Amino acid sequence: MTGASAGAPVRPPAALSRTGARVERQPLARFTTLGVGGEAEVWFVGTHEQLAEAMEQPYRVLGGGSNLVIADEGVPERVIRLSGPFAERDLELDPALSAGDGVVTGWVGGGVPLPGLLRALQKLGLSNLEGTVGIPAQVGGAVWMNAGTRYGEMFDGLHTIEIVTPAGVRQVTPDDLNWGYRNSGIPRNHVVTQVRLKLRRSTPEAVLERMEHADVARKGQPKMKTPGCAFKNPRTPEFPDGVSAGRLIDQAGLKGTRVGNAMISPDHANFIVNLGGATAADVHALLHLIRERVGVAMELEYELWPEQALSAPERA
Ligand SMILES: Cc1cc2nc3c(=O)[nH]c(=O)nc-3n(C[C@H](O)[C@H](O)[C@H](O)COP(=O)(O)OP(=O)(O)OC[C@H]3O[C@@H](n4cnc5c(N)ncnc54)[C@H](O)[C@@H]3O)c2cc1C
Repeated sequence: MTGASAGAPVRPPAALSRTGARVERQPLARFTTLGVGGEAEVWFVGTHEQLAEAMEQPYRVLGGGSNLVIADEGVPERVIRLSGPFAERDLELDPALSAGDGVVTGWVGGGVPLPGLLRALQKLGLSNLEGTVGIPAQVGGAVWMNAGTRYGEMFDGLHTIEIVTPAGVRQVTPDDLNWGYRNSGIPRNHVVTQVRLKLRRSTPEAVLERMEHADVARKGQPKMKTPGCAFKNPRTPEFPDGVSAGRLIDQAGLKGTRVGNAMISPDHANFIVNLGGATAADVHALLHLIRERVGVAMELEYELWPEQALSAPERA
């Protein structure tokens, strides 16, 4: 007999890689806002050297996990998670680049949670990013897809972006990228490690007011575990400018539909929520059901890891 209790999962301890990155097999569910996802080898990297080593084998980049549905089997690739200095922020203003109302900060790590950054900027009375309030991303993930709302987006406040690929490190400005709506133009698996923010001097009160105004639009959103909106608003011949995906799902009578422990939110039909203990298979089944019942081609808003076609539910 060993000291370990019978039936307890035996997990290999964290190891340090050649360059000192912490490497650990972990359930990815703990890194996602949906709370779903099997195991993978997670590389916690805090230096360029560690990142370069992590990139020597096939990898994926994990940010705040707020736009992901990860399979119950996990993923076979290494999962890179920014930590240490890549999860720190320096909001000191660079005097060489700051003039008048326009200011540029020091480096903000790609692994910094966006909500905490916004709170810090508000207290300093620094404006430009408050339109992204309520997005539970990390800075790197939010930059990678130019996350935003109708009140503003990440590219409203970027001066320099550091991008790392297996070929090396480069620093670019937004003008160097072909960015647009919810798209930074940065290819997949190019890692946004740090950014310098380009902000505008305002007052804490004015920034707070704009944040509160932008946040009102979230009033109907469920407060449960979710990866955000499930589908993009589709364009149809009838609605060439797009029609609300939530309304279509609601009209199909699907609000409150459950598969296992996943449910189409009764509050907002375009949100699938985890009631506790949901699996990726439950969520896939609901996504499939929505597509089938709505009868309009609808594109997924979030990513499936690994990428896969949605199959019919095994149980309903
Ligand atoms: C409640 C809720 C509300 C939301 N509201 C909004 C909204 O209003 N507007 C909006 O745009 N989105 C919204 N989202 C979706 C989500 O927050 C955004 O898509 C966000 O950009 C995802 O960032 P993340 O750090 O969580 O990335 P993840 O979900 O971890 O990853 C998403 C993609 O980004 C890549 N990625 C992550 N980090 C990096 C990095 N450092 N460098 C390069 N690539 C990276 C990943 O590889 C993956 O391809 C919402 C989500 C939730 C759960």
